[in-house]
Amino acid sequence: MLAIDQSIFGSDDNFIVLVRDDATGQTAAIDAVDGHAIAERLRQLGWGLDLILVTHHHRDHTAGIAMLKGEFGATVVAPAAEAGRIPAVDRGVHEGDTVNVGRAIFEVIATPGHTAGHVAYWSAEEKLAFVGDTLFSLGCGRVFETPLETMWTSLLKLRALPRDTAVYCGHDYTAANGRFALTLEPSNLDLEARMAEVARLRADGRPTLPTTIGAEQATNPFFRADKPRLRRAIGMAGGDPAAVFAEIRRRKDSFS
Ligand code: ZN
Ligand code: FE
Repeated sequence: MLAIDQSIFGSDDNFIVLVRDDATGQTAAIDAVDGHAIAERLRQLGWGLDLILVTHHHRDHTAGIAMLKGEFGATVVAPAAEAGRIPAVDRGVHEGDTVNVGRAIFEVIATPGHTAGHVAYWSAEEKLAFVGDTLFSLGCGRVFETPLETMWTSLLKLRALPRDTAVYCGHDYTAANGRFALTLEPSNLDLEARMAEVARLRADGRPTLPTTIGAEQATNPFFRADKPRLRRAIGMAGGDPAAVFAEIRRRKDSFS
């Protein structure tokens, strides 16, 4: 089993996730927003750092890599397609590759959209997925490097994972995402309940993550572009799901 430590860092609510395999002591960080913050947390936990699993090339996921590699000698695993834009990559990975953290096995899932080479890491046995900036709770990443439809295809891959998969996202944007989601589905009771939970958690200074694939299926509008109720809500009844997704994403981009 993996022990998991999570915390929120910085002004953009980056989510720091550290995992450690009990049996072997092998430890991994998912992305590296800030080397000092991660190193300090590792020292508090008494953990080393063997691996950094990188989801995509953005600075807020890679800025700490060089420092952590220098201090802990961690191996840097990153999408092969973005290796030229990520510091100190030791191993470039593609869809279907596997990465071990101790005895836990993660499968690489290509999730292009937010960036063209973005990947997620999924462990069937551990029932968890690290999805970077592809999927957020009640939202998804902005689409910068591919057509909007490409992101829909990536989200469908994540939506097809087992419902009880715990999902660790790159940022804790749940509260803001939920305000937008409620404009589309004001009478979604699951969404209402989730927002009440989010308000309680954030009032206590706690993260709203991880979420689960099943919870997102019921509440995340970007997972629901092929649902009749959502399509009616945006005036696209019978619309092609990829086009509905694109319309929701465009509306979210200009929502404040
Ligand atoms: Zn990003
Ligand atoms: Fe990010």
